[in-house]
Amino acid sequence: MKKIVYLCKLFHEQNMIKTIIAGPCSVESRERLRQVTEALAAMPRVGLIRAGVWKPRTRPGGFEGLGEQALRWMRDLAAEFGVSYCCEVATPEHVVLCQRYGIDTVWVGARTSGNPFMVGELCQALHGSNMKVLVKNPTSPDVGLWIGAIERLRQAGVSDVSAVHRGFSTYHTLRASAGSQRVSYRNTPLWEVPMTLRREMPDVPLLCDPSHMAGRRDLVAPLVRMAAQFDYDGLMVEVHPDPDSALTDAPQQLTPLDFAAMLDGMAPLEASTVPAPQLEPLRRQIDEIDHEMLALLARRMEMSRQIAFIKRDLRMPVYQSGRWADVVADRLGQAAELGLDDDFTRALLEKIHAESMRVQLADKA
Ligand code: PEP
Ligand code: MN
Repeated sequence: MKKIVYLCKLFHEQNMIKTIIAGPCSVESRERLRQVTEALAAMPRVGLIRAGVWKPRTRPGGFEGLGEQALRWMRDLAAEFGVSYCCEVATPEHVVLCQRYGIDTVWVGARTSGNPFMVGELCQALHGSNMKVLVKNPTSPDVGLWIGAIERLRQAGVSDVSAVHRGFSTYHTLRASAGSQRVSYRNTPLWEVPMTLRREMPDVPLLCDPSHMAGRRDLVAPLVRMAAQFDYDGLMVEVHPDPDSALTDAPQQLTPLDFAAMLDGMAPLEASTVPAPQLEPLRRQIDEIDHEMLALLARRMEMSRQIAFIKRDLRMPVYQSGRWADVVADRLGQAAELGLDDDFTRALLEKIHAESMRVQLADKA
């Protein structure tokens, strides 16, 4: 029997927060907010309009949002178009102002969600309110901090809490795959982190924010296609009436037309509810290969242990940079011949080497 699994379960209505959220990075003027609201109000799949009112800026001097003035426009336009807005809150005063202007969904940004003190202050302000809260992942890939922020909010009595995956900061811009391309994202997705959150908190709706991951508008749709391969409950996408002139995040925002085209182009995935029989022989081979790889890794670690004893007798340090450089160069050469990806091979070798060092140091102790 076949069932249709819609992309990201986008059309499921049972989630606490409607699942397609779209809107500008920031509220910049009444007219621009009205323009984008009019366009998004005409898209029935958009359940909530995002619009930043206080903007966290990495460096001083940029546009920091219009604050209360923007909330006033949001209240008026919500009534005029019959829509709901959400915005970012970082302080208890922000929460109080949102309540005053009828904003009942807010999000905790990536620079706040990783700070238990700030989350604690927000919890106090939200306690006893009926506000719905979206928690963006912290900028560092620390799933514990992300889970902790959600737990704190729930303990403060916020019952509608969702998570938003917006990617992670890295010092070097890591290359990751987007379909068949390898590209640099503004915030690396690290898909395994939200999937860990999903496993640990299966009842928390999980949304994907491809805009802040991408940093570039041409990468938003490919990221949405990638997200469809995982188990998301919805999307948060930045949409602006004239992205190039936007005061924040100009390169990554989509026009309403491009956004609508992206939604229309999202073909539903067809999924079989029973395992496809033609996959089985290949899956058996993968199982066998994994078992062989683990047995080989165990043998490799045993060699490391024996080497540790010899190094100790010779009073040699465990880390031998010349030897390691030779190993990496040799294995990367082999990987290239075998058609294995260079970044993947390097990451795998680093993992194995770190474990080998750990084993040797443990035996030294
Ligand atoms: C935003 O949504 O505009 C924003 C600042 O997001 P983040 O906290 O994910 O950087
Ligand atoms: Mn933004």
